[in-house]
This record gives sequence, structure tokens and C-alpha cells, in this order.
Amino acid sequence: MSHGNEVPMSWTWYDGRWLEGNPPLIGPRSHAFWLGTSVFDGARAFEGVAPDLDRHCHRVNASALAVGLAPTLRGEEIIELAEEGRRRFARDAALYIRPSYWGELDDPTLVIGADPASTRFAMTLWEAPMHEPTGISVTLSRFRRPSLECMPTNAKASCLYPNNARAAREARDKGFDNALVLDLLGNVAELASANVFMVKDGVVLTPAANGTYLAGITRARTIDLLRKAGTAVVEKTLRYEDFLEADEMFSTGNYTKVMPIIRFEHRVLEPGPVYRLARRLYWDFAHGG
Ligand code: PMP
Repeated sequence: MSHGNEVPMSWTWYDGRWLEGNPPLIGPRSHAFWLGTSVFDGARAFEGVAPDLDRHCHRVNASALAVGLAPTLRGEEIIELAEEGRRRFARDAALYIRPSYWGELDDPTLVIGADPASTRFAMTLWEAPMHEPTGISVTLSRFRRPSLECMPTNAKASCLYPNNARAAREARDKGFDNALVLDLLGNVAELASANVFMVKDGVVLTPAANGTYLAGITRARTIDLLRKAGTAVVEKTLRYEDFLEADEMFSTGNYTKVMPIIRFEHRVLEPGPVYRLARRLYWDFAHGG
């Protein structure tokens, strides 16, 4: 993923204006800078379409509420801003579309909390090429997903990501692209940056949503598309050992959509027929088919 300092063509809507590049929006006294109260969502535009943009724009409001922020825009208004932003780029540009909320001021009535009345919003879009589905390698992480008792796992909150990042870093240092992360009970949750599926004897399996991980919009869409196409998808508790015996594995997420996993630990896997079906169904859906 390309984030941060080297800014590709990028636009941000903030406080009624579109700003180019990477404008400084928060300062050292901002609550989010200090204590991490920020949430975001991520959608994609590519080939002239932006699948499930509406769901991503609505989810950011739910995430804000879950960390004690007060959404300042309705979901529909966020969708309109995303569409307005898209028009600043070429029609078929590959974009990452990221609405975000953060807390600006400390709440004087609440130790360490952000004042909900100081909630700020920005809509940022930048050019980010879609990844070719060449496949990724995955290894088990020793780090775990927290549960709702430990972290705001019901939000797409920025504060969750340093944990995901250390799992990703550990995987990279072992020579893999991504990490399979377990929950606190030792069941498979997801990858560091996407949801995970496996196929065994023709049955598609994915961890049941249990509140510890982001049960993604792309995951839900993929399950729905596969089921409508007559493929059984079972959401259930899955163990690491189940994945070691998988015939196929693939990931889902807004950024890379449906991506084959072509190595899991020492096992080399082929991008299989279910993966290919899921990816084709997703692209057909994205193009309104
Ligand atoms: N899990 C994590 C940790 C993620 O960061 C993402 C992508 N943002 C997902 C799952 C996939 O979610 P979605 O399909 O809603 O993008």
C-alpha cells in the first residue's frame, strides 16, 4: 500500500474546501494526535466504478459513534463528497477513498477522552493502482486480535492498526506478505489487513464474525455473491490447522478486493476455481452486472 509522505495525486475535503496534496489538518494539541481518537473507512474506485461506496461511507459513522465521537455528516452527505472528490480525477482512475473522523479537543468532563463536540471530518482520495491478482504468501502471527473488552473492535479505528502492523512486520521479516491472525481464544480471525477464506472439498469456509475482527464489507459482498451463484459458504469457527489442510485460500478487502493466497507457511497453493469465481463475480457486481 502506498500511504503517507510521498503523496500521489491526492485531494482532501476539509471544512468546506478541497485541498490538494497532504494538507496539515491536525496539530500537536489535537486530541487524535495525542491519544489516537480517530476512525476511518476505505473504499476503492477503479475502471469507472466504486463498488459498495455507500456501505463504506455509512460505516465510518458507526465507527465514530463506537469510539465516542459524534458524526458531523450523514452517510448520504459523505457519499456525495466521495463522488465530488472522484470527479477531480480521471474517470477510470484507481483511487483509495478514505473518509475519516477524529477528536480535536480534550473533553474537560472526561479523563483522557475526546470532546465529541470537537469531532472533525475529512474526505481524502488519492491515486492508488489496483494490485494484479498475482497472489500473496501468509504465515501465522504470534500476535492476536483483541476482543471488544480490550479494544474498540466494533470500529474501524486507527488505534487498532499498530497491532495489525506488528503482525504484518513479523510476517514480512519471515519472508511473507501478510499474517494470519488468531483471536484471543486461538481461533482464526483474519489477516493483518483483510478477511480470509479457505476452501476444503468444494466448501467455502470463513471465520464466523465474532466481534473481534472487522467482518468486512468485501467479505459480506463476496459471501452474498458466491451464495447467489449457488456456492455454499459456511461461516464457522476455524482453527489454524484447518487452514493448513485447505485446498484453496483467498483474502477479501476493499484495497485488493479478492486476492489468492498462493503460499501458506511451507505449502504452495494454486489460485483455485472458487477464488477465480469469487473474483469474477465481484468484478461483474462492481460493473453493475
Ligand atoms: N480486516 C482488516 C484489518 C482491514 O483493515 C480490512 C480492510 N480495511 C478488512 C478486514 C476488510 O474490510 P473491508 O472489506 O470492509 O474493506
